[in-house]
Amino acid sequence: MIPRVNFAHLPTPVEPMPRLGEILNIPNLYVKRDDQTGLAFGGNKTRKLEFLLADALSQGSKTLITTGAIQSNHCRQTAAAAAKFGLECTLILVGESPEQPSANLFLDKLFGANIVWVNEVGSRDSVLDDTFNQAKTAGKQPYLVPYGGSNPTGALGYVFAMQEFLEQKIEADWIVFASSSGGTQAGLVLGSRVFGFKGRLLGISVDGKRNELTNQVADLAARTSQKLGHHMDFSPESIYVNDSYCSTGYGNLTNYEIEAIHLFARTEGLLLDPVYTGRAAAGFIDLVHQGFFKKNDTVIFWHTGGQPAIFAPRYRELIDIYD
Ligand SMILES: *Cc1c(COP(=O)(O)O)cnc(C)c1O
Repeated sequence: MIPRVNFAHLPTPVEPMPRLGEILNIPNLYVKRDDQTGLAFGGNKTRKLEFLLADALSQGSKTLITTGAIQSNHCRQTAAAAAKFGLECTLILVGESPEQPSANLFLDKLFGANIVWVNEVGSRDSVLDDTFNQAKTAGKQPYLVPYGGSNPTGALGYVFAMQEFLEQKIEADWIVFASSSGGTQAGLVLGSRVFGFKGRLLGISVDGKRNELTNQVADLAARTSQKLGHHMDFSPESIYVNDSYCSTGYGNLTNYEIEAIHLFARTEGLLLDPVYTGRAAAGFIDLVHQGFFKKNDTVIFWHTGGQPAIFAPRYRELIDIYD
């Protein structure tokens, strides 16, 4: 048995998106609602944290340490999970402490997380090491939750998410989703092989180059397979990643993301986030316009969460002015 603590609200629903499907001329369009995984506004990190928390608790850890961007969903969900299990949480965030913490950062503080600021990405790992060692010396038995929750333990969450999806009996030709640190995609890729998903998985890269991400996903899927008891190999060539939509960089919105956010909101009452799902949806819509999908394809947009970020002023202002 693989250690897991159950706190996600599962299975997440799969819902049709008929109004959006009509506009895009994809009648069999669905959304997998991992924005509804239940923990503190949900999102994909909840599934990973079920396995990461089980690991931390089995080691007797008293504090979780992780890192991310100011508006990191991963940090928000980790801070919430720590609170729920009575652990301390320290977040290493890149940037400067704003006068008025908003959105995910506001929530991090609400969950009682300690925040350590680093000015630049380059010094993040050394600050992370220092923070970890200090916590260790202080007897807090720290547990390092990897960036994005993406190591073999965390990726297990998406292996079993694929099993869950297959039990929902929707024969998908394509599953499209945002891909960044690769844990979601690696888990889905491995889960596809283990549980026999016949469709294809398309990760829309949020920030990384295709070659880097496919290598990372293939490697992580292989390492995750060992947690299931036997090693499987994955070639990077078998992993689909589209990196055409991330040239503006992480979290820098263009009109494409903004339009996608408006379209999902106004056709389906669905909230996308600015950084991840907004970008994945923008890429998806563009691919539809390019004729990438066949009209009768069954397509799943796998929603990975992130909505609190929409309330960060820097994003809200941009989304607001567009109409
Ligand atoms: C972290 C995150 C992703 C990316 O998932 P990875 O496993 O890091 O590739 C996608 N969407 C949202 C909302 C996220 O917070």
